[in-house]
Amino acid sequence: MTYVVIENCIKCKYMDCVEVCPVDCFYEGENMLVIHPDECIDCGVCEPECPAEAIKPDTERGLEKWLQLNLDMARSWPNVTVKRDALPEAKAFDGKPGKFDAYFSAEPGKGD
Ligand code: SF4
Ligand code: SF4
Repeated sequence: MTYVVIENCIKCKYMDCVEVCPVDCFYEGENMLVIHPDECIDCGVCEPECPAEAIKPDTERGLEKWLQLNLDMARSWPNVTVKRDALPEAKAFDGKPGKFDAYFSAEPGKGD
């Protein structure tokens, strides 16, 4: 089991999650973060920290696509452990449907 970052992180990237992870398993894309499924120890402390409710356990139904995306992107994006400011448009995009199709970027973020 692992936790995964899902669609509502896209274009929000609040980053509250990265500082609480005891094993530093968040990786940064241009407009979202992912969790490395092989590094996550399933502690669950990040889930309630996310203002966008974008972190879920992979035991929830229907998250297979997100589990695969977290794995694929964690292998190519840089590690991130220090919180920076959320994206300027975070509030406006929080909760918007269809963010993956419209806005997902496979480009890497800055990392630490
Ligand atoms: S706190 Fe939530 S919205 Fe922010 S980067 Fe982490 S998963 Fe994404
Ligand atoms: S569940 Fe724990 S180990 Fe996994 S990403 Fe969240 S804080 Fe890190």
